[in-house]
Amino acid sequence: MRIPFHTKSVRFAATLATLAVVLAGAACSGGGDSPPERLVLIGLDGADPGVIDVLRTRGELPNFDRLFEEGISTVTDVDEPVFSPVIWTTLFTGCRPEKHGVTSFTLPSADSTRRVPVTSNLRRRRTLWDILGSSGIDVGVVGHWVTWPAEKVNGFLLTNYTWPPSAPFEKEWTPGAEWDTVGRRTYPDRLDEVVRPAVNAGRYFASEHFPEIDRLDPALRHYLDKDFAYLNAGMALYDARSPHFFTQYMESIDFFEHRLWMIHRLYENRYHDAPLGDLPPLDKPLPPGVLERIGPMVAQTYRLADRLIGLFLDRLDLEKDAIVVVSDHGFRDWPPGTRLHVGDGKYEEMPFWHSRHGILLAAGGPFRKGKADGAVAPEQLTPLILAAFGLPVGKDMDGAVRRDLFRKEFLEAHPVKRIDSYESGGKGSPAPAPVESPMDDQMREMLKSLGYLD
Ligand SMILES: [Zn+2]
Repeated sequence: MRIPFHTKSVRFAATLATLAVVLAGAACSGGGDSPPERLVLIGLDGADPGVIDVLRTRGELPNFDRLFEEGISTVTDVDEPVFSPVIWTTLFTGCRPEKHGVTSFTLPSADSTRRVPVTSNLRRRRTLWDILGSSGIDVGVVGHWVTWPAEKVNGFLLTNYTWPPSAPFEKEWTPGAEWDTVGRRTYPDRLDEVVRPAVNAGRYFASEHFPEIDRLDPALRHYLDKDFAYLNAGMALYDARSPHFFTQYMESIDFFEHRLWMIHRLYENRYHDAPLGDLPPLDKPLPPGVLERIGPMVAQTYRLADRLIGLFLDRLDLEKDAIVVVSDHGFRDWPPGTRLHVGDGKYEEMPFWHSRHGILLAAGGPFRKGKADGAVAPEQLTPLILAAFGLPVGKDMDGAVRRDLFRKEFLEAHPVKRIDSYESGGKGSPAPAPVESPMDDQMREMLKSLGYLD
């Protein structure tokens, strides 16, 4: 039914519109009391609620705006240590680190002579996508921490080692000989070859979405190119296969914050009057033009995330589908004298570093609108998504279902169910050590460049 724009009677038009909504609600199975047909979960490493607020007030994040307007928003609050692999594993298992086993960036090798970057075999609890898959939901998982070596899923999975963690990375990427020796980078195997045309063509994310890309130093350029590879691959797979649950990880916000926070803050101070607070002065003045060239880049990574959200909003119908955006932590200035746990047992005084607060946004399908009271703990994410699909939550998960994020009608139709455990498949026993691979040196190099390792 179409209502002409110039209709004479506004009240008549409003009545028709209301009727259309009611009819649509009756005709489809969605409308707030059914599990979503599709649920897309975007993981933004290091996305900070404060930065998002500031950029939104300047109108720079229109798709985040839509999520805030059409969904529920809150912050996440994590305990120490605020380390990405630990928190993402908590987010995706519903269990705290002492239960899921991924407690740091690196863990001792089998012979205890060295520390090896954490790998998926260490995870002692089933992942959200594994549970969804065994409940008959087809899944797509792209780029998340601690997913290599790839485990079998009911769908597809690109691990965090699908592409090299820190090697020089170019648009027309050709893997080196050592790369082919790294197995189980994707499930099914060699999925990276399937998505390479989308990756090399920059089909969804290309240099025009980050105009400064050619002026970045090689390390930053590498991270952006790697993110673009995962984003292009993820979108290509999503469009080709339309999984019912899809989750995509994006790394560059966190990476750019680590490397460029100071200059980001100086730029915000100079051009947007943001107070500098306790930040220490620079040792020497910046060369001319550097502030203008580099200063906007942290904000630019948030605009990339906004674009990613927008691509999914174009594809989803929030009447029946849902979208969730989550970050593992935020980023902030720290007052002088604050010693922070910045790596495996490494404590340092830092002027800026991870903050305990990330974001959680959930819109469409079963989620209500508004602002939630109180922060969400990372172990509450997996129970939240299980409940959104109408599936029971494991009593042995540490996180409780945040009923306050759902619409009332949805909870009436789908009261939260509980089962003793999802852990019957033999994943309960601890693996002895991380799997070593030719990627370890690159991974260590990456962790060093972010300040986590010496
Ligand atoms: Zn992180």
